[in-house]
Amino acid sequence: MMKTVLLLDLDNTIYPVSSIGDKLFKTLFATIEKSGEFEGNFEAIKAEIQRTPFQKVAYDFSFTKKLLNECMNIHIHLTYDDPMFYFDDYSVIRNLPHKKYLVTSGFTKLQNSKIKQLGIFNDFEEIHIIDLQTSVLTKKDIFQKIIEGNNFQKNEVLVIGDDINSEIKAGSELDLKSVLYDRKGKFLKTESIPSIATFHEIHRFI
Ligand SMILES: [Mg+2]
Repeated sequence: MMKTVLLLDLDNTIYPVSSIGDKLFKTLFATIEKSGEFEGNFEAIKAEIQRTPFQKVAYDFSFTKKLLNECMNIHIHLTYDDPMFYFDDYSVIRNLPHKKYLVTSGFTKLQNSKIKQLGIFNDFEEIHIIDLQTSVLTKKDIFQKIIEGNNFQKNEVLVIGDDINSEIKAGSELDLKSVLYDRKGKFLKTESIPSIATFHEIHRFI
């Protein structure tokens, strides 16, 4: 009997943030660059914003309170309204009959607009957006909530995402099977964190 349920990340797991980044963050990047109220390299900040929750980037690069507030005001109202495209191989996941749950961190309005533009709303049983502005919950908390709320056994859950410090870490802390979606082969292959370069390999885990 097929039982595995999939807990999926959104950004850089279902679609590449780089495909929308320059356009989406145009005003934000300009505001940061113009202010100069940060420490470190501006290009590094741009790269980090596209793969890490914004609040963490602001902290890591010592944004001033003033700059942080300006960025927050931009972010809170930000949406992406142009066409978006998921990774080709996401269609493999999409076509699986397994139950899927989307767990993503970010600004609520923005994450909702991406889900809409990607046309993936109906792929999921539940969609959880962890908005760091309004929530102190972590992916680990949400995973636990999904498991308890649906009476899943831990061994029937598979976590899939691109971030070893976020969903993959949460998955291992909860003793869930986790697989790193590592399209570019950035990470060293290890026994403890299995990885795949394409969703065509997902069948090994479900
Ligand atoms: Mg991600």
